[in-house]
Amino acid sequence: MKFAVDLHVCQNMGQCSFSAPEVFALDDDGKLSFRNEASDEYVSPELADDAADSAQTAAALCPMGAIRID
Ligand code: SF4
Repeated sequence: MKFAVDLHVCQNMGQCSFSAPEVFALDDDGKLSFRNEASDEYVSPELADDAADSAQTAAALCPMGAIRID
């Protein structure tokens, strides 16, 4: 399982970093730490089971609906 974040939709609200801190982290500027790795959409590497569960929770809680589970 992987997750993808639509970086045009994400508003850096940070909810995902609270619900799944092992998967989502904010940098010193308050933006997702992987934002510099992609301009349109960030796609994660394959996730271990625990991280996949956390990513699913974060996707459900993201207020912008920016996280997609693949
Ligand atoms: S919760 Fe959603 S909108 Fe907020 S930083 Fe995470 S992906 Fe972006």
